[in-house]
Amino acid sequence: MVDVTVRGAGIFGLSIAWTCARRGAKVQVVDPFGPGAGSSGGLVGALAPHVPENWNAKKAFQFESLIMAEPFWTQVEATGGVSPGYARLGRLQPITDARGLELARAREKTAAELWQGRADWRVMATDQIGAWCPPSPTGFVILDTLSARMHPRRACAALVAALAVMGIDIVPGAPDKGQVVHATGLAGLQELSTAFGKTVGNGVKGQAALLRFDAGVAPQIFADAVHIVPHADGTLAIGSTSERDYEDPTSTDTALDDVLDRAMRAVPLLHGAEVIERWAGVRPRSKSRAPMLGVHPFHKGQFIANGGFKIGFGMAPKIAEVMADLILEGHDTIPADFLPRASL
Ligand SMILES: Cc1cc2nc3c(=O)[nH]c(=O)nc-3n(C[C@H](O)[C@H](O)[C@H](O)COP(=O)(O)OP(=O)(O)OC[C@H]3O[C@@H](n4cnc5c(N)ncnc54)[C@H](O)[C@@H]3O)c2cc1C
Repeated sequence: MVDVTVRGAGIFGLSIAWTCARRGAKVQVVDPFGPGAGSSGGLVGALAPHVPENWNAKKAFQFESLIMAEPFWTQVEATGGVSPGYARLGRLQPITDARGLELARAREKTAAELWQGRADWRVMATDQIGAWCPPSPTGFVILDTLSARMHPRRACAALVAALAVMGIDIVPGAPDKGQVVHATGLAGLQELSTAFGKTVGNGVKGQAALLRFDAGVAPQIFADAVHIVPHADGTLAIGSTSERDYEDPTSTDTALDDVLDRAMRAVPLLHGAEVIERWAGVRPRSKSRAPMLGVHPFHKGQFIANGGFKIGFGMAPKIAEVMADLILEGHDTIPADFLPRASL
């Protein structure tokens, strides 16, 4: 007997399968291309918040998801024995000018209120941080203690291992059984666009690189619009480009070289580090730019979880929770902005 069929074994499908299985559902996961074959098979893994101001449903949802991430990934690792490389080590951001410094200081106050004392947004002098601190024109950086890192590809492997322990394998094909959720990323958005005869979502290509550089348990850095993410295994990820127009979804080119140059300028310590992998993937972006969750717009009686765009890994624990609430219990807690109609 199967209670839930999950179509798609990216971070959305795997997380939903895991949460449903933990609640006692019998789950099957179907992906003709295998787990992590889509945008979830990458290397960056910055789980980072939006700025703490102008609070809205998306920011509140993301905040809760980032707080949920630690117990979520701890449980996954404890079950399957594979580490996703998760650690909440925070993030440093150089402050480039006086206006940025003023804003950052104002956000210290809004973060104290909006993040409910569960994480901080602090302005600190660079000499308070140590050698890992990126140079900053003002002499100050923002340190937020909410950001975490994990290794996307390993996070998928960790979920696959945990699901296997629960008797769930990822299979290339199987008929629908029980409740069905479509977490098929870009393919799912293209299917919707075809069905509705208009663009409901699209793909945004991203290129990223992995360096051999052991920063230890250092916070990630966001500088000059580049994520610099030290991983647990002595590597360091740098990303990403953001390309609406592309021909080859998996190639890397000089746009990635530019991202690498910006990272080296932002963190001179990285000069000379060996680039051990260059990778590209296509982020599934809904028209509304928000995750697309809920009842599927045309597969009658079925569900959809899509549109992770740039923050799919950060959102996954909370998305899995609200989708399991809906699929297993008929309990709908999905913010209105995330319903498919927001993009139709
Ligand atoms: C370069 C880059 C850097 C990124 N950095 C970050 C980051 O630092 N932090 C963060 O949170 N997010 C980041 N993201 C975004 C994140 O990777 C995505 O939001 C996330 O992977 C989306 O997950 P998904 O499961 O919806 O889609 P996908 O991972 O694309 O999964 C969809 C799955 O569906 C399968 N599929 C397709 N058709 C079918 C079908 N007919 N039946 C069954 N299965 C099917 C595919 O094989 C695939 O495995 C980044 C993305 C890129 C490209």
